[in-house]
Amino acid sequence: MDQNTRIAVIGAGIAGLTVAGLLQQQGYQVRVYEQAARFWRIGAGIILGASTAKVMRRLGIEDGMVRAGIKPDAFVSRDVASGRILNELVFDAAREADFGGPFVNIHRADLHRLLVSRLKPGTIHFDHRLDGLDEGPGAAVLSFDNGERVEADIVIGADGIHSRVREAILGREPPRYIGKVALRAVFPSARAAGVPMRDCTKWWGADRHLLAYFMTDRRDECYVMAAVPSEEWGADTPPAPGTREDFLSAFPNAHPDLTALLEAVDNVSLLPICDRERNDVWSAGRAVLMGDACHAVRPFMAAGGSMAIEDAAILSRAIAACDSPEAAFRTYVANRVPRVGDVQRISAENSWLKLPGDTGWFFGYDPFTDTLDHAA
Ligand SMILES: Cc1cc2nc3c(=O)[nH]c(=O)nc-3n(C[C@H](O)[C@H](O)[C@H](O)COP(=O)(O)OP(=O)(O)OC[C@H]3O[C@@H](n4cnc5c(N)ncnc54)[C@H](O)[C@@H]3O)c2cc1C
Repeated sequence: MDQNTRIAVIGAGIAGLTVAGLLQQQGYQVRVYEQAARFWRIGAGIILGASTAKVMRRLGIEDGMVRAGIKPDAFVSRDVASGRILNELVFDAAREADFGGPFVNIHRADLHRLLVSRLKPGTIHFDHRLDGLDEGPGAAVLSFDNGERVEADIVIGADGIHSRVREAILGREPPRYIGKVALRAVFPSARAAGVPMRDCTKWWGADRHLLAYFMTDRRDECYVMAAVPSEEWGADTPPAPGTREDFLSAFPNAHPDLTALLEAVDNVSLLPICDRERNDVWSAGRAVLMGDACHAVRPFMAAGGSMAIEDAAILSRAIAACDSPEAAFRTYVANRVPRVGDVQRISAENSWLKLPGDTGWFFGYDPFTDTLDHAA
C-alpha cells in the first residue's frame, strides 16, 4: 500500500509500539492512540524468545534489549516437591546460532522504553481512549472519549484483552477467567542472598506452577510469577496487592530451594489470568486485530508477547506488500493463524519446556524471512 496510507494504531502496549515502529521504518504515517495519560513502570518481567530478537534486530534495538535484560544460561524445569530437574534447555552460543537469536528475560518497562525510542517524536497520543469505530465511505472514523474524531485508512487494534476494536469487529464478549490467579513479585536479589537460584527456572506442580528468573545480567533483580487455582477471582476482579504469605501458602510442601526463594519475595501483586477462545476472524473492513486484542493466551508458554511482536512483523510486511487493506489483512491472517493456533493450544495444555522436545519450530522462526503466503 502506498506510503500516504493513514494508519491508526489503538494501544501503546508491546503490540502497538512494535507495529508502529516497523511501519514508520517503512515510511508510513502512523499515529498511536493510548488511553493512559502516561507510561509507568509495571512490576513485572517478560521472557522473549529468539523469534522476537529478530524483530528487535530489525528495529535496531536487539543490542539494547540484551544490555537491559539478561541472556539466561538455560531454561530449567524442576519438580516443585522433589526439586528434580525435568528438563534443561541450555542457551549456549551454538543454540543461539541455531535459533538465529538470543533468549532474553527483561523488565517490561525496559522493553517498552526501547520500543518507544524507535518512534518519531509525537507519534503517541496519550489520553485517547477509543470509544467508537465506524466505517465511513472512504475511511474509518475513530471517536475518542476526549471528544476527538480522527479518520484513518487502516485501524490496527492493539488494545489488549479488553479490546474496543475487537468489540467493533466481533461484538461484545468478555475475556474468560481460567480459574487461576497470577501471583507476581519483583524484588532485589540481595533479599535471596545464598538461595540457590538459576537464571531461569520453572517449578512444576500438579495444578500450579511458578517461574523465577533474573531480569538483568547483574542478577540484581528477581522476578517470580506463579499461577495458582482460585475460585474467588473472576475476569472482572481488578489486580490487587498481595503478600509473601500468598506465595508460601500456595506452595506448602515445596522443595527447600523454592521455599527459601519464596521467603525472600517482596512487592507482591495478584491478578486474574484470562484468555480467549480461539477465533480466526481477525479483521473487518479497514480494521484489524493483533496481540492480546486478537488472541490472548494463557501465560504458560511465555509466548503472548512474542506472538504480538511476530504479528507486528507479518502485519507490517503484508501492508507493504499488498495494495488494499483487505488483501493485506487476508495475507496477515493466513500467515499468522496456524502458528498462533499452535501456541494457543500449547499454552492451554501448559506443557511447553516441561520435558525435552523440539523447540526449533518456535524459537528458530523468523517472521522476516518466512515466506509471505498471499491468501487467495
Ligand atoms: C502474568 C503474565 C505473564 C506473562 N508473561 C509473558 C512472558 O514471559 N512472555 C511473553 O511473551 N508474554 C507474556 N505474557 C503475555 C504478554 O504480557 C501479553 O501477550 C502482551 O503484553 C500483549 O501485548 P498487547 O500490546 O497486545 O496488549 P497490552 O499490553 O494489554 O496493551 C494494550 C494497550 O492498549 C491500551 N488500550 C486498551 N484499550 C484502549 C482503548 N479503548 N483506547 C486506547 N488505548 C487502549 C492499554 O492501555 C494498553 O497500553 C504474560 C501475561 C501475563 C498476564
